[in-house]
Amino acid sequence: MLVKGRSQKRSDDMADDIQKSKLDALKKTARPCFQCGICTSSCPVFRVAPELNPRVSVDSIITKGEVPREGNEWLCAYCLMCDQRCPMGVSLAEILMEIKNISAREGKAPPDVIESAESLMADGCLSPISSRSDKKRTELGLPDLPKADPADVQKLFKATGAFEVLEINKAAQQEEAAE
Ligand code: SF4
Ligand code: SF4
Repeated sequence: MLVKGRSQKRSDDMADDIQKSKLDALKKTARPCFQCGICTSSCPVFRVAPELNPRVSVDSIITKGEVPREGNEWLCAYCLMCDQRCPMGVSLAEILMEIKNISAREGKAPPDVIESAESLMADGCLSPISSRSDKKRTELGLPDLPKADPADVQKLFKATGAFEVLEINKAAQQEEAAE
């Protein structure tokens, strides 16, 4: 069995404290909800993917005191419709975003999100401009588009802690594949 070093344990304890304080903040934000369901009936994603149900996500935080683990919040398009319509002014989009942040810090980000983050790190953008598009722009007399610099994105990833979260998720993915 792998025995954790003291510094690793300290860093794990710190991570647990961060997760706990994030969950406490979430509970406070969700508290005014009285489960009317207007957020869910306003959600355009819910109409096509009913597994995303903001009312249920909030309910899980209020009644169980924990973030939902099914991963449905990753479907949120952050359109803010639910925020606009909630009669209690609950910041639902913020709650769903924080649920995703907590899950990602636990290494539970979906594979396609990890893949997108890796492309962003490697190319500096999600969809690199193809040489075909460049050629077409030249033919049409349009100016060249500025090229994304991966170094800028990598700096941002490191400064915001996103790099560490990505590494946690890549390690979790590898562990899962090895099982
Ligand atoms: S609209 Fe607001 S009060 Fe109604 S269920 Fe959604 S979060 Fe709760
Ligand atoms: S922000 Fe997310 S949960 Fe809210 S309405 Fe838009 S897609 Fe639905």
